Amino acid sequence: MRVIWIVAAFTMLCLVFLAGGYFKKIKKSIALWGAMLCILAGSVFLLLAVLPGNTFYGNILYKGVTQKKVVALTFDDGPYPPYTERILAILKEKKVPATFFLVGENAREHPELVREEMAQGNLLGTHTYDHKDLLRLSGPAVRKELSKGVKIVEDITGKRPTFVRPPHGFKDFSVMKQIEKLHLQAVNWSVLPKDWTRPGVDVIVQRVVEGVKPGSIVLLHDGDSPAKTASRQQTVEALPIIIDKLREKGYTFVTVDKL
Ligand SMILES: [Zn+2]
Repeated sequence: MRVIWIVAAFTMLCLVFLAGGYFKKIKKSIALWGAMLCILAGSVFLLLAVLPGNTFYGNILYKGVTQKKVVALTFDDGPYPPYTERILAILKEKKVPATFFLVGENAREHPELVREEMAQGNLLGTHTYDHKDLLRLSGPAVRKELSKGVKIVEDITGKRPTFVRPPHGFKDFSVMKQIEKLHLQAVNWSVLPKDWTRPGVDVIVQRVVEGVKPGSIVLLHDGDSPAKTASRQQTVEALPIIIDKLREKGYTFVTVDKL
C-alpha cells in the first residue's frame, strides 16, 4: 500500500468528521477531536515513510545491533569524478572498507570507478537507476528502477548487489514489497552529517564523530544525483579526519553486510 493513499484516506476521514460537525450530525467536540486524530495519524504514517531510522514499513537496516565499536561509512549518489577517486584514495591509504550505493546511470558513465571501488574491497549496493523518489512511482515503476539499478552494477562487476538504499531513504509498504521481491536488503542510516549541504569540513567531522555509536551507519556523499553539479570536496577533506578521530575512539570500520 502506498503511503500517499493512507494519508489521503485520513484526510478524507478528517473532512467527514468536520462535515459531520458542521451539519450537526455529530457533536462538535467529537468532530474536532476526530479531525485532529486523523491529521495526527496521517502525519505519523508520512513521517515513518520519510524518516530513516525505523522499520515500520519493513525490514530496513539503519544500524547494527552490537556493543562492539564498529561503524559503517556509506557513500551515496556516485560514482562522480573527481570526488569518488579522491575518496577511494583516502580509503585505500587508511585501509578502510566502505559501502557505496551507486546511482545506475552514473555507474554506466563511469564503470572504471565501479570496478575500482570493488577491487579495493568495498561493498557495492544500488541506489536505483536514476535516483527517483520511489514514493511517487507506481509499483511496477519502482521495480523497474530497482532492477535496472541492480543490473547495471551486475553487468559491470559480474556480481549482483544485494543491498539497496532507496533515494532519500524514503519507503512505504509498496516500496518495501518490491525491494523484498528482488531479494534485496534495504539500508538507511543512523548518522546524518548533511555533508551535501556543505556546512564546512569541521562541522561534518563533528557531526559524524559525535553521532557515531557502536553499529552506526553513517551517510556521506561521493556523488550529487540527479543534478551532478555540486562539489563534494568538503566530504573528501572531512573523511581522513573522521577516520582518524573514530580510530582514536576505538572504532573499526566495516561494510554494512558485516553489521
Ligand atoms: Zn541519494
